[in-house]
Amino acid sequence: MKIGFNEATAFKCKGQSLIRDLELCEKYKFDYIEIQAICLKEYLKQYTLTELSNWFNQHHLKPLAYNTLMFFNQRDTHGKQIIDREIDFILNVAAAIGMDIINTVPVFNIQNKTIYDIKIDAIDRLQYLSEKIQKANNNAKISMEFCGLPNCSINQFKTAYDIILGVNRKNVGLTLDTFQFHEMCSNINDLRKADGNKIFIYHINDCEDFPFGSCPDNHRLWADEGVINHKEISTALKDIKFNGVCSIEVMRDEYYMMPYENNIKKAKQVTEAFINKYFLD
Ligand code: ZN
Repeated sequence: MKIGFNEATAFKCKGQSLIRDLELCEKYKFDYIEIQAICLKEYLKQYTLTELSNWFNQHHLKPLAYNTLMFFNQRDTHGKQIIDREIDFILNVAAAIGMDIINTVPVFNIQNKTIYDIKIDAIDRLQYLSEKIQKANNNAKISMEFCGLPNCSINQFKTAYDIILGVNRKNVGLTLDTFQFHEMCSNINDLRKADGNKIFIYHINDCEDFPFGSCPDNHRLWADEGVINHKEISTALKDIKFNGVCSIEVMRDEYYMMPYENNIKKAKQVTEAFINKYFLD
């Protein structure tokens, strides 16, 4: 299985930058990097997309996904225009550096919407975005990441998966994040019934034992150091023939205090141990 590093894992470490993340991820032999919008925008103040593209051409490390197109659903006309502009920017980056996936998350704090209403709107929006990206780039994909908080509009695996089935396009799938899956008690049986090809990215991490739905992001832990049932989730993914990238994504203040290089070195060790434990028989 190919492994990835999500820049969120180190992005508050002292001295962090996209260029240093690239160098360190190459050094510690990750296959992919998930680029955070804020890091990319900072990078582009000093460098060009051509320089970024040249870097990837000269190294093993490749760009996996853009994180994150925020709040794709439940938008008014003005909100949809903002999304369109952001997508145009991302597609430009994607074409320049050969990055295929746009990670997107749903909106929070909507009022008086049933799951049915949310699904209808999300399917419509994702079909629109699917067509828009396909016109620009045949390889481009959207990966929707449901978030495991009570106030997120799409917060369980089943709702997210039903939306992906409703969209029914090859270039639209899911990011399954173990923290998000655990936090709103997504049902493992729903994952067992899913089509593995509809899951593009597997975000691995862990968390402390908070009441469900209340664990703050900065109480996430390195994968397999907390309370998430990784054996169950990983076994289900293996059984449904998940074929995407396993990417570590942790956000914890304590880990941001680590020396920068140690953070990425540790992320690699954790990811490798995780794959060996759960995916290699
Ligand atoms: Zn994630």
